[in-house]
Amino acid sequence: MNSRYDVIVVGSGPAGACAAWRLAKAGVSVAVLEKAALPRYKTCGGGLVGRAMQALPVEVRQVIEQDCYTARLNILPAGLSFTTHRQMPIVSMTMRSQFDFAILSAAQEAGAAVHQRCAVENVSFHGDFVTLATSAESMRAKFIVAADGAISTVARKMGLADGRILIPALEYEVTMPHDRLDRFHGTARFDVGLIPHGYAWVFPKKTHLSIGVLSMAQRERDLKGAMARYLDLLGCGALAQVERHGFVIPSRPRRGPFAERRILLVGDAAGFADPVTGEGISFAIRSGLLAAQALIDGQLDEELVRNTYNGSVTESILPELQRGGCLARLLYTFPRMRWWAFSQHGQILSEAVTDVMAGKKQYRDLTFKPRTLLRLLSPRWLRNSAYRPARPHDDQV
Ligand SMILES: Cc1cc2nc3c(=O)[nH]c(=O)nc-3n(C[C@H](O)[C@H](O)[C@H](O)COP(=O)(O)OP(=O)(O)OC[C@H]3O[C@@H](n4cnc5c(N)ncnc54)[C@H](O)[C@@H]3O)c2cc1C
Repeated sequence: MNSRYDVIVVGSGPAGACAAWRLAKAGVSVAVLEKAALPRYKTCGGGLVGRAMQALPVEVRQVIEQDCYTARLNILPAGLSFTTHRQMPIVSMTMRSQFDFAILSAAQEAGAAVHQRCAVENVSFHGDFVTLATSAESMRAKFIVAADGAISTVARKMGLADGRILIPALEYEVTMPHDRLDRFHGTARFDVGLIPHGYAWVFPKKTHLSIGVLSMAQRERDLKGAMARYLDLLGCGALAQVERHGFVIPSRPRRGPFAERRILLVGDAAGFADPVTGEGISFAIRSGLLAAQALIDGQLDEELVRNTYNGSVTESILPELQRGGCLARLLYTFPRMRWWAFSQHGQILSEAVTDVMAGKKQYRDLTFKPRTLLRLLSPRWLRNSAYRPARPHDDQV
């Protein structure tokens, strides 16, 4: 047996790095175990929406490659296009290698120990501590924060109930001549209709594009074909140099509880990604910070920590995911209804989702009560629009 800590965080993505930062700041003895060598590539669009930037506890401006104040949604088969603008960035573009490393470095500066190339392989419980068998050495701690992403080894080894839906997504890093890159500058682009139950996106970076596609249908067969068609549509087919990656995103949370015995699940390991967009960084940050706060407030008392974390997830994360889940079902399960809703109220829907991503509203403020949904579907409501997008100057707050 080698190292001992009060808390071990498994995984150095945004959930784990934020948890470690908050714990180290509070003077808790904490270590992060990361299986990769750092900084590491992460399959992700690297789009930080406004609400993720607001939730972040550390400065990451230095790793933002481009700010997008404009978002464009194209409904391809219908030839419809909706553009939203805000005075604060709607999406700030980064590369996850740099972003995750920036937060982890802040945690390290605050006092967290970091063990890279250290993969957790097994978990065992012994009274008031937990032992982790890793590829490097055996370690023990009073609590474990499982921030090891969608394929969480920690959750699997604990035999936790799942209930998440893991959906497939592709991310291609596409390099092309500068004159071709310029036409994507400053806009986060989203395209619906390439596949029946998902969407594609273009996120402009400093010297390349991150182009992706996801499907809310778990068994989507032709994601690679869809991506090839999308590259052609964008005019990036022949000229581009392409690095191809694929992974999964949880589109539904675990059944819970999210803290069991001495282990707290955060981020993708818990299934906290937005069911409408697949955006997972906001809830990874929020859940990482909530887990750390529960450990601090609960003074490492097992029952207190567990109850505090389960309570804060139930109060502040699950309602938003449930409301988002209703909208996602509407948008992705019934493509015809989606075409109709967008042809009637596309700008209003785009403004609404932009406000949620920008952190100005939550899904629960939008259109899910039967009365408001009926209003959304009524042309009269369009004229007297009861939903008011956040005004541009609201963004300056
Ligand atoms: C194609 C694609 C595009 C996406 N685009 C976006 C986007 O633009 N914006 C957005 O907000 N979200 C996006 N997401 C979702 C986002 O990537 C995740 O929700 C987010 O990374 C979750 O953060 P996390 O900290 O929970 O886990 P992760 O970021 O997955 O971090 C987990 C870490 O744990 C480490 N690890 C895993 N197993 C072990 C182990 N056994 N031992 C030690 N370490 C381990 C991993 O190496 C990794 O570093 C995208 C996802 C995909 C697949």
